[in-house]
Amino acid sequence: MEQQAHIRQLAQVDDLTGLTNRNHFHQLLDANCLSATAANTIFGVLFVDLDRFKPINDAFGHEAGNVVLREFAQRLRKITADGGEVGRLGGDEFAILMTPKGSVTQLKVLAERVLQAANRPFIYGDRELSVSASVGISVFPEHGWTSAELMRNADAAMYRSKQNGRNALCFFSDEANASLAQQSSLVQQLTMETELQHALVSNELFLEYQPVFDSVGGKMVAVEALIRWRRANGEIVYPDVFIPIAEQSRLIMQIGRWVVQQACKDLAFLQQNGFPELQMNINMAVPEFVSPSLPEELMSITNSHNLSNHHLCLELTEGLVMKQPEKVIPVMQALRHLGFKISLDDFGMGYSSLSRLKKLPISSLKIDRSFIQGLPRDRGDCAIVRTILDLGRHMNLKVIAEGVETDAQLVFLRQFGCTLIQGFILSRPKQLTDLMVYLPA
Ligand code: C2E
Ligand code: CA
Ligand code: CA
Repeated sequence: MEQQAHIRQLAQVDDLTGLTNRNHFHQLLDANCLSATAANTIFGVLFVDLDRFKPINDAFGHEAGNVVLREFAQRLRKITADGGEVGRLGGDEFAILMTPKGSVTQLKVLAERVLQAANRPFIYGDRELSVSASVGISVFPEHGWTSAELMRNADAAMYRSKQNGRNALCFFSDEANASLAQQSSLVQQLTMETELQHALVSNELFLEYQPVFDSVGGKMVAVEALIRWRRANGEIVYPDVFIPIAEQSRLIMQIGRWVVQQACKDLAFLQQNGFPELQMNINMAVPEFVSPSLPEELMSITNSHNLSNHHLCLELTEGLVMKQPEKVIPVMQALRHLGFKISLDDFGMGYSSLSRLKKLPISSLKIDRSFIQGLPRDRGDCAIVRTILDLGRHMNLKVIAEGVETDAQLVFLRQFGCTLIQGFILSRPKQLTDLMVYLPA
């Protein structure tokens, strides 16, 4: 009997948080639909999704993510202590089944408490992690008679909260339904393209700079320009989301030129204010780079800011170079001829052949973050990183390690002679003026 009870518990409970799991939550919801139909009562379902959870996982690792999920589960439990069932649907998605005394106002109050619960900081070691939540609400029977309908509609409402800038709650409505249909990717892509066009002219794009340090002297030797988009509602959109869309059209050329202009202007400022030898690293997308007029255009921008070309380093992904070498290599050569530097980004992911690598006119390699992640535990990653460092030494290329997050990684890299380091452990991407903290004493 004990064993049976244990098995039942395993089948119904989410391991990580101890909450009801997805399957069991649906069963409870089904049962509720039946009893509420019989008793002619109403109840609500809250669909809760954490905002900005992925960056936490990415930046601090899964253990940090788990801490947030467990703590958030506890908080949801507390909120529903006097009635209601909380389930974890998977990932950072939760749901609450609420059988209040029948009022929609009560559901709204509950949803507000969920938002507050997400807003309180989460403690991980000596860090405070912050997230928020987006909540969607559906009400039985107005928004559905079955658990499937109720969940789908609460989910659609949640998606609306996300669109409204996150950290928000939303009841299901037909409008929410319409926006669900809008998710179809082509429409979304076109919408985003138009919005991006608008972003460009109304100054919604901005750059953050992430330093590269030389671990020997502890000096900030370069910064990498990273683009962000602040939408009118305050939401920050990251380049992984919009650059791929911009790359589908000529928009990428306009955005790329804007980045170079802005970064050069800011580099001139930094060089005049205490960082005379600082180098600016700029990411380039495929279409920007195959344009034969690129060298001249860059030249006129550096000239107009009185910068010398060797302080500008263009980061190209290895994949890009290998895909269209016949177009890309001549542009690279022309750029090098003018003194610009070129770095191969995400190195190790693009399967370059070594013979080809030897012929590329580049000045540095950036070891892809995914190899740094496994240091120093994963033997494969350690071997790859050491090999890339050796390769760099023999080919007279500088090697930069990016995405360095822990002391142990730093120790490993130093031990094997990697001195150029970029990563959250030393500095996150920062606003221009915040770089002043790295002024040499
Ligand atoms: P990337 O060139 O590999 O840039 C590094 C990314 O890693 C940045 O993300 C940065 O914030 C993140 N990062 C830095 N240190 C760490 C760390 O220690 N841990 C972790 N987990 N992440 C770290 P971001 O800013 O979201 O940029 C993403 C990608 O978007 C960039 O990858 C780059 O390919 C592209 N991108 C950014 N700015 C531009 C731009 O101006 N033009 C183009 N074409 N692409 C850009
Ligand atoms: Ca880069
Ligand atoms: Ca990279």
